[in-house]
Amino acid sequence: MAVGVIKVDRAALKKAGGFMGINAMLKGLTVTGRHFFKNLFGWMVGKPQVFTVMFPEQDIAKPPSFRGMPVLVQMDSGKDRCVACGLCEWACPVDCIHIEPGETEDAIERYPKVFDIDMGRCMYCGLCEEACPEEAIVMSSRIEIAAFSRAGTIWHKSDLLTPVDELPRRLDYVRRSYQR
Ligand code: SF4
Ligand code: SF4
Repeated sequence: MAVGVIKVDRAALKKAGGFMGINAMLKGLTVTGRHFFKNLFGWMVGKPQVFTVMFPEQDIAKPPSFRGMPVLVQMDSGKDRCVACGLCEWACPVDCIHIEPGETEDAIERYPKVFDIDMGRCMYCGLCEEACPEEAIVMSSRIEIAAFSRAGTIWHKSDLLTPVDELPRRLDYVRRSYQR
């Protein structure tokens, strides 16, 4: 009686495993298993790991690269840094910025009489920030923009103005990112 020898082609098996997503699935299960046993051990020794953040009572730490709603920079003198050049309005891909310029006696010749952003349309792309030559509009870490009406989603200049002291991390990030 002849005995057949089955040769295992390991390379083909590996390829098939990768193709069927088995490798990825095993990697995922390893990560899940690691966290499961870590948490289980934590509960057993009375030190559970808590990942839930009780927002909004508890704030979420955000990195400087985080893009929340765009805001207007207010200088220490209380004036707008914006000179109403309209570049951000032009750069916005969804046309959610509306500016009406006004004249001033200061060295800064113009200022925005009206500066509205329709936060119902904004998609937090940051192109307005990138286009601004004055570092006058930056992406803040603010994310609370809920409104009860369509009109409530329009944020006016008075809502958008944010003291420069509150934005040092983002302004620094903007300078580094765009090498200003
Ligand atoms: S973040 Fe993007 S969508 Fe929002 S106002 Fe700026 S350019 Fe427009
Ligand atoms: S925010 Fe900047 S880009 Fe937009 S109008 Fe003002 S100065 Fe120009």
